[in-house]
Amino acid sequence: MKPETLVTTLGREPEAHEGVVNAPVYRTSTILFKTLAEFETCERGDGVRPLVYGRTGTPSTRALEESLAALDGSDHAMLTCSGQSAIVVLLHAMLSSGGHLLLPDSLYATMRKYCIEELPRFGIEVEFYNSCIGKGIAEHIRPNTQLIYCESPGSHTFEMQDIPAIVEVARAHKIPVAADNTWATPLYQNTTKLGVDIAINACTKYIGGHADIVMGLITCSKQYYPTIRRTFRNMGICPGSEEVFLCARGLRSLPVRLKQHQQNALSIAHWLREQPEVERIFYPALPDDPGHALWKRDCTGASGLFSFELKPVSKKQLAAMLDHMQLFGMGVSWGGYESLILPFRAQRKATPQWQPKGPTLRISTGLEHSDDLITDLAEGLKRMKAAA
Ligand SMILES: *Cc1c(COP(=O)(O)O)cnc(C)c1O
Repeated sequence: MKPETLVTTLGREPEAHEGVVNAPVYRTSTILFKTLAEFETCERGDGVRPLVYGRTGTPSTRALEESLAALDGSDHAMLTCSGQSAIVVLLHAMLSSGGHLLLPDSLYATMRKYCIEELPRFGIEVEFYNSCIGKGIAEHIRPNTQLIYCESPGSHTFEMQDIPAIVEVARAHKIPVAADNTWATPLYQNTTKLGVDIAINACTKYIGGHADIVMGLITCSKQYYPTIRRTFRNMGICPGSEEVFLCARGLRSLPVRLKQHQQNALSIAHWLREQPEVERIFYPALPDDPGHALWKRDCTGASGLFSFELKPVSKKQLAAMLDHMQLFGMGVSWGGYESLILPFRAQRKATPQWQPKGPTLRISTGLEHSDDLITDLAEGLKRMKAAA
């Protein structure tokens, strides 16, 4: 079945609920056992995943996990209380003292901070590589490398990574590869097919899609599931029941939303490219983007998040633009139905040559009409010029 059909059919069982189309929200801490024997079986685990306790899964979490694993083409899925907590579970599961972790330079900023500020205390060496390195990753591998992490396209500057090339090198060294797929979602980039062992998604963004939840997802192959599942349980990280319901609801419309996000982003990016105030655009869906060929090869679509660099302007000019936007809100997060714009300063270690001349802004295109969004931006640029 195609993804559009999968997201509308998976994870619900009307027959089990008197014909009710949607599965109910299971709010619980306690799950009762009928007999001592049943309790003992559940407590042992025995390879299956019985419902034991609210924190370790309910029928709602299980249904959503199974839907997302199917959509991703991976064997297993685990839901967490945020994208960041999914990352932390993954790192704690895969790394140990004395190990070495390889990270792309265009990594999501909060993960970057976590790796720099927390991991060294546990004796883990963290190294950043140029995101566009491809098979050159081989030169960074050490005998103690425990995980290679990817994020394609990268945060803020949207570098596409040659994931299959990195996977090929990693396989030769028997090193697992994990990738953050929040930008493309499992719908527009199948990381499983690209050879990635473990994928991270912040459901907070497109999968939830309505700016009303914070949630994370880990999907992985059979091989790594027992290890990650163990750490996941031990860390006690779980999403709330309301969040799971809202995420499952958001998922149903993901394909139509992404289509519109993409169309709006393309319209706006093409328009911005023609504006004299704009220096460059970072969006792999544009034919002249350095990552375009890889994007075409590895993705089936682009989401609505991209960036652009302005020609140098004063802080006052930038404020004149951003302080009075009618439709674009100024806020972190992205992937919701409402458009956002935010200035950013990307931190780069392995690619110090990246030095923007003017301010850089990230846009998350919502589901408004692109004509209205372009008008809002045009007015903003006008205010910026007038404030010179
Ligand atoms: C937002 C984000 C995360 C973290 O998700 P939260 O739900 O905010 O913790 C991880 N990766 C990327 C690429 C993100 O944009």
